[in-house]
Amino acid sequence: MSGGAQNGTRSGRLYERALRVLPGGVNSPVRAMRAIGRDPIFVASGSGATIVDVDGREYVDWVCSWGPLILGHADPGVIAAVARAAAAGTSFGAPTEGEVGLAEEIAARLPSVEMVRMTSSGTEATMSALRLARAVTGRERILKFAGAYHGHVDGLLAQGGSGLATQGIPSSPGVPRAAAAATVVVPFNDPDAVREAARRHEPAAIIAEPVPANMGVVPPAPGFLGLLREVADETGALLIFDEVITGFRVARGGAQEHFGVLPDLTVMGKVVGGGLPAAAYGGRRRLMERIAPAGDVYQAGTLSGNPLAVAAALATLARLDADAYARLAATTEALSAGLVDAASRAGVEVRVQSLPGLLTVFFSGRPVRDWDDASACDTDAYGRWCRELLARGVYPPPSQFEAWFPSLAHGPEQVEHTIRAAAAAFEAL
Ligand SMILES: *Cc1c(COP(=O)(O)O)cnc(C)c1O
Repeated sequence: MSGGAQNGTRSGRLYERALRVLPGGVNSPVRAMRAIGRDPIFVASGSGATIVDVDGREYVDWVCSWGPLILGHADPGVIAAVARAAAAGTSFGAPTEGEVGLAEEIAARLPSVEMVRMTSSGTEATMSALRLARAVTGRERILKFAGAYHGHVDGLLAQGGSGLATQGIPSSPGVPRAAAAATVVVPFNDPDAVREAARRHEPAAIIAEPVPANMGVVPPAPGFLGLLREVADETGALLIFDEVITGFRVARGGAQEHFGVLPDLTVMGKVVGGGLPAAAYGGRRRLMERIAPAGDVYQAGTLSGNPLAVAAALATLARLDADAYARLAATTEALSAGLVDAASRAGVEVRVQSLPGLLTVFFSGRPVRDWDDASACDTDAYGRWCRELLARGVYPPPSQFEAWFPSLAHGPEQVEHTIRAAAAAFEAL
């Protein structure tokens, strides 16, 4: 699929080189942009809400590294904090002051979290939270939702969202049968299916993105998260909220604060790394003290709590106050409303589903409540629309099954530019 619109460009030449040494030319599948029928864009730099590709083209970036960059690209405060940390040594494999401060900051924000363990990626964090849930309950099965993505953990790839959904991969070869068999998958927003599956399979954990965002953004139906809490309590399972996307984004205290439902364990990533590789899982002290060396559940990491990532995280979280969340919500709302309006003027049927700080434009005539609804969207039309947007200097998520991530660097100017480009792109369909 090399060449196309990019023949003869620097991006095109880089892609040809990349295809020889990186599978698919990338280090993570969705970057390849295959789902929207074009070649990837090689990025040279970013600043605020803007990225510049290696051919000098500028884009308003609504992907923002898939969520971490809530302050936008190359934020001066974050850069200064990381530079200071780097000058003092990039890694020690020994405790530092910063990670204690970050753990305190996380616990102060998330209502259900008293203790955290840091990791380098969200995948590691969900994997470790499952291990803890299995240790605590003495059970093996995990209940997850169709279209949810929790990183590329073996047992969680069944009917996963994000890149699996984008590429139409129901699961993955290479996953041991036993790992797949320990995973029970039910539709999101289906209370009866959850109740029945939990009673029948007595899982160690029910793991959910409280707002699924890896099949596009699918808000929970009123009462659905509360039901998960009830069913977990009734069946002796732990409730795990994967807040890798929602944490520190939809509200100061994440989705658990926004919806007022507290999980037993919370998985964090993306924003909590401030744009550097960091993630974490946490919960009540009673549970977290099972983790080694306080307890017997082993989990470790050479670069866990890395000083550069911790510095970026602290610099980022320090800026996320009530005013910041109000601005992020206003930007999301203005963008959503503008996109809805632009589509309806052009006579294109879409549903824009959003929460403060994230949204998806579904090419569908009806609300998207679960994976069946999401997978019924017109992905070809979505792809064409994205290509038109890119040609007009707007960088949307290059898959129907991902979220737009407004940042605090996006202002009215970027929103207006995007809505104008979107209107022309809808017309072009
Ligand atoms: C991105 C993501 C992960 C995985 O995090 P990585 O850092 O990419 O391993 C897990 N859960 C959710 C909800 C995510 O969006």
